[in-house]
Amino acid sequence: MTQQTGQDADKRPSYKDTLNLLETGFGMRANAIHREPELQAFWKDKGIDLELGRNNPGPMFTLHDGPPYANGALHMGHALNKVLKDIINKHRLMQGRKVRFVPGWDCHGLPIELKVLQAMSQEQRQALTPIKLRKKAAAYAHKQVAGQMAGFKRWGIWADWEHPYLTLQKDYEAAQIDVFGTMALKGHIYRGLKPVHWSPSSRTALAEAELEYPDGHTSPSVYVGFPVVDLPEGLRSKLNEQGLDLPAQSNALSEGLQVAIWTTTPWTLPANLAVSVNERLDYCLADDGKGRFLIVAAELCDAIASKLERPLQAKATVKGADLAGITYSHPLLERRSAIVVGGEYITTESGTGLVHTAPGHGVDDFNTGRKHGLPVLCPVDEAGTLTAEAGRFEGLNVLKDANAVIITALEDCGSLLLQEDYSHRYPYDWRTKKPTIFRATEQWFASVEGFRTEALTAIDGVQWLPASGRNRIESMVSERGDWCISRQRTWGVPIPVFYQRETGEVLLNAESIAHVKALIAEHGADIWWEKDEVDLLPPSHSAEAHLWRKGTDTMDVWFDSGSSWASVSSQRDGLSYPADLYLEGSDQHRGWFQSSLLTSVAVNGTAPYRTVLTHGFALDEKGRKMSKSLGNVVDPMVIIEGGKNQKQEPAYGADVLRLWVSSVDYSADVPIGAGILRQLSDVYRKVRNTSRYLLGNLHDFVPSRDAIAIRELPLLDRWMLQRTATVLDQISEAFERYEFFRFFQLLQNFCVADLSNFYLDIAKDRLYVSAPTDKRRRSCQTVMALIIERLAAAIAPVLCHMAEDIWQNIPYPTETESVFLSGWPTVPEEWRDDSLQAPMQELRELRAAVNKVLEECRSKRMLGASLEAAVRLEARTPALQDALHWLQSKGDQEVDGLRDWLLVSQLQIGGEPWAELLASDDNELAVIEVALSRGEKCERCWHYESDIGQHSAHPSLCGRCVSVLERR
Ligand SMILES: [Zn+2]
Repeated sequence: MTQQTGQDADKRPSYKDTLNLLETGFGMRANAIHREPELQAFWKDKGIDLELGRNNPGPMFTLHDGPPYANGALHMGHALNKVLKDIINKHRLMQGRKVRFVPGWDCHGLPIELKVLQAMSQEQRQALTPIKLRKKAAAYAHKQVAGQMAGFKRWGIWADWEHPYLTLQKDYEAAQIDVFGTMALKGHIYRGLKPVHWSPSSRTALAEAELEYPDGHTSPSVYVGFPVVDLPEGLRSKLNEQGLDLPAQSNALSEGLQVAIWTTTPWTLPANLAVSVNERLDYCLADDGKGRFLIVAAELCDAIASKLERPLQAKATVKGADLAGITYSHPLLERRSAIVVGGEYITTESGTGLVHTAPGHGVDDFNTGRKHGLPVLCPVDEAGTLTAEAGRFEGLNVLKDANAVIITALEDCGSLLLQEDYSHRYPYDWRTKKPTIFRATEQWFASVEGFRTEALTAIDGVQWLPASGRNRIESMVSERGDWCISRQRTWGVPIPVFYQRETGEVLLNAESIAHVKALIAEHGADIWWEKDEVDLLPPSHSAEAHLWRKGTDTMDVWFDSGSSWASVSSQRDGLSYPADLYLEGSDQHRGWFQSSLLTSVAVNGTAPYRTVLTHGFALDEKGRKMSKSLGNVVDPMVIIEGGKNQKQEPAYGADVLRLWVSSVDYSADVPIGAGILRQLSDVYRKVRNTSRYLLGNLHDFVPSRDAIAIRELPLLDRWMLQRTATVLDQISEAFERYEFFRFFQLLQNFCVADLSNFYLDIAKDRLYVSAPTDKRRRSCQTVMALIIERLAAAIAPVLCHMAEDIWQNIPYPTETESVFLSGWPTVPEEWRDDSLQAPMQELRELRAAVNKVLEECRSKRMLGASLEAAVRLEARTPALQDALHWLQSKGDQEVDGLRDWLLVSQLQIGGEPWAELLASDDNELAVIEVALSRGEKCERCWHYESDIGQHSAHPSLCGRCVSVLERR
């Protein structure tokens, strides 16, 4: 926007030095690579973030950080999450709230344990003791935390970096033991043998949250006939009534009658202990044409016939309840079992309507087995290998060779009716990407049933943003089963229990919990592995330590992070429990939001948060997930520091990353890519250059000396303040609602439409050409100073570096040494004058209409600068006529001239139409005529005037410029 003197000025003395040109150290370019770290060092040296958090006068605001997992490089998901939190915290700080943001990390769990193991040789692994593994895992986690922390700091995130919470800290672990203990003493924790999702590849039980269901899983499904060896008398007589007389003798019966079942997991057949039916369904005995009857659900008879490619003719039909008590012999093992009544889970959607039941390998099977007093047989070890209980199949692996061998054995004994591949949803271990199985193990559970109602009530009292979050978590909590909280791993917080070596009796009471908690609080959880029972048992049991064995299970990491309210927000100074806000990705309804809710409700009967805000996920510009194979991964560090090829991947700086976060509607998934970054960088530059223009024109302005009182300001300036007040109101509201994309739009519009293209465009003449101390210049500077301070403050939560850079470049003394100490921007009441709005709106529309005609002339090369033009106007609407009258009667003579606002040299309102026109327009608003201006061009101000040449010392200047020079 700098005005240059003309080319012809080269030969004569230049008047350029007599203009008031821009002067500022605030660069056009951000130079973010150097400048941002400097500004961060400034905050750190001055302790500005922590000082505000502690000493602010307002009430406390606690945003409780959800801990990212301490593994791997930072990605755009981290950026979205942490920058959103930081924008909110900085805004609250500037509002005067006490804000202490304690960053957290989730440090236990399998991925880190695997990382450590993968880095070791086979021999090293074999020599590894649990405590050595734990030390290595802790060191790995600390290193990862340090790396991620450095990244977060570079993004400009303010937090209590000196005192983060890590789930491996001893005070954290002790608080977690307390949560577990309190739940146990309230009766919410129990131990039970139960089929759980088991990952043979990880050798551990998995929670629902640790499963994924990849496309394309195929299982070898089999239809199998179990030979019937005995019929209950009631059934026999019902069959007789229908004309079916089956042999009484076992051998003969088993030749002629089979129970048809279907399974997609043939490896579970050695664990078969029953066949279940739905008592209300109809079942038929169908003749297969080879002298044998198959029992199948009547409704499925035809479908099974065509599948088996043999005729099936129903000879008798009975209810499921009638089949109960049939004895069949296991086709592969020496075992006889019975048909039992299962439940409504048995349907005719697929299979045969008779369900192979292995209580050790399925939840429904387990429940049915419990109902009928069946044992929980589980002939599969933790690696997925069949045990001696599986008879001749011992040693086979259920995910490798067991299925094929068992299918062959079924074929050999004539029980295999059909084998076919079957595609279906099947749970995989989310970490190893290998299939899981159901396997009955001794596990620890939190009984959600015990506090489900309380949890649902607590959900009701929380504000969920967006509101759909409430339904998500509500349905998840109302439907979820008990929470399996034990894991058979080493890197975690121990389940603090002892087992009586002989009887298996469990020691878990107030004394034992308090004792272990105190040990962990002092030494950390490693003590559980470092010490023997004699040192870990409570005093009342230490004398009989040899009778007890400490447990080896650790807790589900969701229990770790779900206890953070107990160890952080409810314990640390400067934080509140329940926290004001939890803010994480929308997948956390089934993760951290839920585990935190469950533990908090179970212990205290209350939700750990007042408001829960969720964000979507970062996708590429085409809406695809980012992946290395697609090559569409955007790395936050490359955005900040640039890539290998800086032309393709320039160094945008942390503020552009932050601006991206503010620009997206994060309630859904959000896109990011090179094109979006280029657009953001344009917006960033517009804000920067607008600020630079404001700063550059204030170099000789000292508010205490030069400012003009608000009531004495010209209309244009008062309108600009009124407009600023309105925009700040809207920005404040957007921040209050966490709708930062609205801030982004408002900021852009304010900088471009209100300031750059209108107010500052008009101001050039006032600022450059006037004498430095002229009121028309000082009044403009007054407005610019008032705006730049507030603009800097309003962008500070998002563009924190630019805001501070602006503040440091304000040329006059400011009241505070940092923009963050200046508070959230407000305006004095006298700025607000609604009467300015309507006439100014009319005049801005008129200006736009005139600009259109001038632009037309310029495009036809009839005009260069708009100052070469003269304009005649006739207002068509009463509103515009009123506005023109208002401006004429109330406007400041020096500033509120429409001619200057239109940037033309001559203006005539009304009068006779002009003869020689360059262009004209006759629209609803006004008649607009454009002609070449009369007179000559003043060399200094470029206005065309008729009084040029009248002054001998300055023959090329207009009278106005001469008088300015004479006063210098
Ligand atoms: Zn002039």
